[in-house]
Amino acid sequence: MNGEPDLFVGGTWVHACDGGTRDVVNPADGSVIATVDEAADADARDAVRAARAAFDDGAWPATPVAERAALLDRIADLLQRDKEELAVLETRDTGKTLAESRIDVDDVTSVFRYYAKLVGVEADRVVDVGDPTVISRVVREPIGVCVLIAPWNYPLLQMSWKIAPALGAGCTMVAKPSEVTPLSTIAFVHLLEEAGVPPGVVNLVQGSGAVLGAALTDNADVDFISFTGGLATGRTISRVAAEHVTKVAVELGGKNPHIVFADAEWESSVDQVLTGVFLHSGQVCSAGTRLIVEESIADDFVAALVERAEKIRMGDGMDPASETGPLVSEQHRAKVEAHVATAISEGAKLLTGGSRPTDPALAAGSFYPPTIFDGCDRSMAIVREETFGPILTVERFTSEAEAIGLGNDTEYGLAAGVRTSDAARGERVVRALRHGTVWLNDFGYYTAAAEWGGFRKSGNGRELGPTGLAEYQEIKHIWHNTAPKSAGWFTGE
Ligand code: NAD
Repeated sequence: MNGEPDLFVGGTWVHACDGGTRDVVNPADGSVIATVDEAADADARDAVRAARAAFDDGAWPATPVAERAALLDRIADLLQRDKEELAVLETRDTGKTLAESRIDVDDVTSVFRYYAKLVGVEADRVVDVGDPTVISRVVREPIGVCVLIAPWNYPLLQMSWKIAPALGAGCTMVAKPSEVTPLSTIAFVHLLEEAGVPPGVVNLVQGSGAVLGAALTDNADVDFISFTGGLATGRTISRVAAEHVTKVAVELGGKNPHIVFADAEWESSVDQVLTGVFLHSGQVCSAGTRLIVEESIADDFVAALVERAEKIRMGDGMDPASETGPLVSEQHRAKVEAHVATAISEGAKLLTGGSRPTDPALAAGSFYPPTIFDGCDRSMAIVREETFGPILTVERFTSEAEAIGLGNDTEYGLAAGVRTSDAARGERVVRALRHGTVWLNDFGYYTAAAEWGGFRKSGNGRELGPTGLAEYQEIKHIWHNTAPKSAGWFTGE
């Protein structure tokens, strides 16, 4: 960063082989905050080779579980020591508020603590095969060389959901953060080095997916690819990896319904629908972008939301008065604006927002205000496609079956919320929704111990929880006969 090498290959910090660099921009004011090395294809290939060598010839895959767990705990300690520094980097790079970045570092810490405990207790299994001379065991082994690719909205958090279980399982890896937001991951890899991660176990390259994609995903030396990002990229990676039959887990986008029944508790419902969609300016894969509200309360509920949305304070994430920051880049703001224009042309009724803020203090940043559209239905792109911005659409229903139908009427399936004071109905609806996480009378929360992932086009595979560790493990069945004897099948006569 700023002249220091930023690529970490085989335990050494190096510059890009072709001298390539990229400016990193603070979206709150458009200023360049750092210049980092931008890897070339050859750098990514070197990184995969280093990970391969560390897996095939290094000690890490066979390092005792207790030592691996201790390393994860040391990383958690260092994260807390450097919490403020990491949070500031994240805020300046992504635009999110400092309060949110601090929460991210705490969440990342909890993921390392969780896997430090779990790797010690996930036991092998002994299977009874009906023959007392046979000991049959099912054991878990590290899957091998992992490529970890992360998006820009939660750079440190998304990457740590991958690095923590990969390290815990005994894998080696190449991490590639988004080229838009590499800073916190670079700082984090310095922490991993300090914590004592052996050379070659974690390698880091940053740069554009288009340039590095082939080396990282179309590569027979890679055993597993864990990707978080958009649907189009997830499709490309899955296709390319299939050529090598490489295992792939993809965590993709969402178009998440938040269903509000007329009997829902009013204050918390208004508040959480608002937070669920406008936190981090809507740049959250699980953002509740589709409000599906019972007709009898819809007008009043939407009016209350508009009133609250117009009071949300936008500003630089470093300013404690800011409740939400800018969009991540000018390029992303242009995408959000194009979606809004399409929504208006398709007949959605704009209630608030819908154009850049006029406050001169926000003019240099890529800010976009909370925007609400009423009168929406599935024929509109704004209801079907992920915008990844502060846009809420409103659809109405009159029966429970209609609410469930609307909630499932999406090609995605990442997350959903249900709000009702009728416990039996709540249970019926959460079970009927085809989404990877469903919140009942709450929204947006997750924990390191529970799986996260999508149904349908929101992806496959899971992160967090025991399944998040299992993704990084191969299963081996060991059949051991303690009293060897002939099979007796071919008689030899
Ligand atoms: P993106 O798909 O554009 O990029 C994600 C990452 O993939 C980046 O690091 C990028 O450089 C890399 N990449 C791009 N092309 C590649 C290729 N051909 N080969 C290898 N890598 C390549 O996504 P984004 O815009 O950074 O992130 C936003 C998306 O991420 C949204 O769709 C959001 O819903 C999704 N997301 C999902 C989750 C989840 O848990 N399901 C979490 C956060 C974000």
